[in-house]
Amino acid sequence: MKFISSKLLILFFFIYFLLSFPLYSKATTDPIVVPEQFTEISLTKELHIYLDNNSEMPDEEILQKQEEFLSLQEANVSGDLSDVTYWIKVTLLDEASFNRELLLELKKPHLSSVELFSVKNESLLLEEKMGYQYPFNMREIDHRNLVFPLQLSSQQAETFYLKIKTNSFFQAPVSLWEPIAFSAANYEAQTLFGIYYGVMLAMIAYNSFLFLSLKDRAYLYYICFIMGFMMLQLIWDGFAFQWLWGDYPWFALRSNAFFIIWNSLFSLQFAKHFLQLKTYAPYLNKIANIFITICSILLFVPFILDVTTSTRISMLLATVFVILLITTVMKVRLYTREAKFFILAWSLLFFGVIINLLAAYKVIPLTPIALYAPKIGSLVVVIVLSLGLADKIKRITAEKEREARKYYIQTLLQNSFSQLGKIKDFPTLIERGLQSLMAVTKYEKGIYLVYENEEWKLIKKTSEDITINQPIPLYKPSLEKKLTNLDIHPEAFGIEDDINTLFCIPITTEQHTGMFVVYSEEWTELQSFEEDIIFPSFTEQLTLFISNIKDYQLLKETVMYDHLTKVFTRKYFIENADDLIVHAFQSEQPISLLLLDIDHFKQVNDNYGHAIGDLAIQFVAKNIQEVCKENGIVGRFGGEEFIVLLPNTTNKQASQIAEKLINAHRQQPFVLENGPSLSITISIGVCTSDQYLMSLEDMFQCADEALYEAKNQGRNQVVVYS
Ligand code: GH3
Ligand code: MG
Ligand code: MG
Repeated sequence: MKFISSKLLILFFFIYFLLSFPLYSKATTDPIVVPEQFTEISLTKELHIYLDNNSEMPDEEILQKQEEFLSLQEANVSGDLSDVTYWIKVTLLDEASFNRELLLELKKPHLSSVELFSVKNESLLLEEKMGYQYPFNMREIDHRNLVFPLQLSSQQAETFYLKIKTNSFFQAPVSLWEPIAFSAANYEAQTLFGIYYGVMLAMIAYNSFLFLSLKDRAYLYYICFIMGFMMLQLIWDGFAFQWLWGDYPWFALRSNAFFIIWNSLFSLQFAKHFLQLKTYAPYLNKIANIFITICSILLFVPFILDVTTSTRISMLLATVFVILLITTVMKVRLYTREAKFFILAWSLLFFGVIINLLAAYKVIPLTPIALYAPKIGSLVVVIVLSLGLADKIKRITAEKEREARKYYIQTLLQNSFSQLGKIKDFPTLIERGLQSLMAVTKYEKGIYLVYENEEWKLIKKTSEDITINQPIPLYKPSLEKKLTNLDIHPEAFGIEDDINTLFCIPITTEQHTGMFVVYSEEWTELQSFEEDIIFPSFTEQLTLFISNIKDYQLLKETVMYDHLTKVFTRKYFIENADDLIVHAFQSEQPISLLLLDIDHFKQVNDNYGHAIGDLAIQFVAKNIQEVCKENGIVGRFGGEEFIVLLPNTTNKQASQIAEKLINAHRQQPFVLENGPSLSITISIGVCTSDQYLMSLEDMFQCADEALYEAKNQGRNQVVVYS
C-alpha cells in the first residue's frame, strides 16, 4: 500500500509539473496591456507587492513606497500568519478605444479585509472594501470571490492598489475579466461546484441513513467529519460567507478556526472507532482520547479569543492531528482491512493538501489544479472512507451471521445428541442419526453403510428415490487408520443420484465399521467453520452411541442365550415362559412342557472326556432346536437337561413331538470327528396345562415326575404326566 501511494505521488508530481511549467512568466514593472478583445488575463505573475510588517503605515504613504515594491516571486511571501498588511500594486493600460468597466477578481475569498484603491490626482482613493470583516451585502458584485469593478479609461495607464489583511494563509491569485466572459465562466464553475457539493451532501445522506439503520457510532463521527469538511470547503470557496453568514462577519472570521478544530476532533473520533484503536493500538488510543478531549474544549476558543490566536491554535491542533493520523496509520496498517481504505483515502487527501501548500509557499505555481487539489482529495477521502465503512459493516454483519449459525448448529447438535444418547436399538439410532445430520447440514438425502465381510452394505436410506449400485464400489478402508471425511470420494458410494455436495461421518468401533453419508443435489457446500463444528462432535458422539449399543446388545445376548448351546438360558426362558403360560390360559389354548435329560451322561464324560461331553450336549441341543423351534421356546435348564415350552400344543401333540425327538436320537448317532459314533439317547417327561391355570413351577414339577418315571422305566422313552 505504502509502495503504491509513493509511486502514485511521483507520477502525480510529474504530470503536475508538465502542466504547470508553461504558466511561468517573468514579472515586469511596465503596465500590463489590456487588449480590446479578451476574456481573462491572469495577473498573478505580474503583481507587485509591498509588505507593511506592523500594519502601522497610513494608507497615503504607499504612494511614496514605489521603489520598495517587489514582484510577487521576488518578495517571497511566506504563507505564514502574521500581522502583515499586504499591498499589491497593479498598473493597467487599456487598449480599448472607449472607456469601460472591467472586473478584478481575487480568487481567494477567505481574506478578512481587502481594500481597493485607485489613484486620482496623485492621491489615493478608496473604491471598495470587502472581505470577512464586512457584511456580504456591502459588495457591489454579489460573488463568492472578491470581485472589484475597475473603471478604465481608453488608452491610459492606471494604477490600482489592493490592501490585504488576512488571518490565514496569504495567497493572491488575481485575474482581470471582461464582464460577460466572467458571467459565462462563473456559470461553468457553478456546475462543477454543484457536482462537488452534491456528492458531499449525498455522502452525508447515505451515511446518515446507514447510521439510522445500523446505529454504529463510527457513522455518526463520519457524518460530523464530512459536514465539517464540507463547511471548510464552503468557507474556503467563499460560499459560506455568500449564503450562510454573510451578515455576521464576527462569526465568518471565526468559522475557519472553528471548523478546523471540529474536523480534527471528528476525524480522530472516526479514525479511533473505524480502526479499532482500542484493540489494535491501546497506547495510541489513549493519546487520541487526550487529543479528542483537548479538541472538544478548544472547540469554543474561536468564540472567546481573538481571531489570529484562535487561527494559530486551530493550525497547531490540525498539525498535531496530522502527526497523530500518520502515526496511527503506521501503527495499524498491518492489522486490518479498514486500515487499507483509511491509508488510501488520507494519502490522496494529503497529496492534494500538500500540492496546495506547496503552491501557497510558492514552491510550485498556483495553478487551478493546485487551487482545487484539496477539494479533489476531500472528495476522494469521503468516497473511499464511505466504501471502507460499508465494507467494514458488511464484514461485521457476516461475522454476526456466522456466530448465529455456529450457535444454531451447536444447539441443534446438543439437542440431537441428548435424544440420540437415549436410543437403545441400533436401527433407530442410525435412522435418527441420519435425520439429525440432514437437519444440521440441510442436505436432503442420507444413507448408512456398514463394512462387513470385506464389503460395504447399505443398511439404511432416508428416501425411497435413492438408488445405489450393488455391490457398492467403495474402496476398502484401512481399518488401522480412522476414516476421515477427506478419504472419501463421492463416486465411491455408487449413488446414482446427482451428488453435488456430500458429507460423511465415518464410524469405527471395535465391533463395527460404518458410515453416515448425507448429500445434496444442490451446490450448497458447508462452510469450513460449519464442518469444523459438525464433523468432530458428530463423529465422536455417534461412535460412542453406536459402540454403547453394540456393547449393550452383546450383554443382552449373553443374558439371553446359553453360550454353549445357543438355546435360551434358564433365566431368560423362565422370564418368557411365564408370559406364554398366562397368554395361553387367557386365550383358552393348551400349553405343554417337555423336560429332557440325556441318559447315562456321566459315562460319556468318563469315557470320552469333558470336551466330548460338551459336544454331545451341543448335538442334543441342536436336535431339540430343529424339532421344537417352530413350535415353542427351548432352554438349557441344567448341565445336560433341557426344557421346552410348546404353546397351543395339546398333550397328544406334545407327546408326538417328544416321540419325534426320541426317534431322532435313536436314528441319528452322534459322530465324533475322526472317531466312533456314539449312540445318545434321551428321556423326556411331558406335562400339559389345559383348562386350569398351572404355574411354570407346577408344570415343571409334573414334567419332572414324568421324567423320573421315564428314567425308572429304562430310559430312552417319553412319559406323559397324568
Ligand atoms: P441318568 O441317565 O440318570 O440321567 O444318568 P446320568 O449319568 O446322565 O446322570 P445325571 O443326569 O445326574 O448326570 C449329570 C452329569 O452331567 C453330571 C455332570 O458330570 C455332567 N454334566 C453336567 N453339566 C455338564 C457340562 O456342561 N458338560 C459336561 N461335559 N458334562 C456335564
Ligand atoms: Mg441330569
Ligand atoms: Mg442324565
